Amino acid sequence: MVFRYNLRTGSEGFYNITSKVNSAVSESGIKDGICVVFCPHTTAGITINENADPDVVNDMLYALSKTLHDRPEFRHAEGNTTAHLKASYTGSSVTVIIENGRLVLGTWQGIYFCEFDGPRNRNFYVKVISG
Ligand code: ZN
Repeated sequence: MVFRYNLRTGSEGFYNITSKVNSAVSESGIKDGICVVFCPHTTAGITINENADPDVVNDMLYALSKTLHDRPEFRHAEGNTTAHLKASYTGSSVTVIIENGRLVLGTWQGIYFCEFDGPRNRNFYVKVISG
């Protein structure tokens, strides 16, 4: 069972999509299995990290920007190579275990859509698999 979600993003940021993933799991009716959250974009990603202190994702964005920044040697004509690099750093998907109809996440964990080249109309997929 696949669920598709739309997301309107700002310029750059981490968007907590945990509640949407939870709703997909709930709607699927699957009690035990796994779910895959996938981002079909080359300048955005998906990651799991702390959802309690919003400074964590702000620090992650800051660190990514300090680590991966524009260079005159870049050849990609669109001019957004840094966004492509950040997307590969975070990855395009995460897999989460489903147990008793709930996502098995740590107390402080949330699932984030990571925008590196917005604002844009984005989407992501949640595939829920029984087993
Ligand atoms: Zn590009």
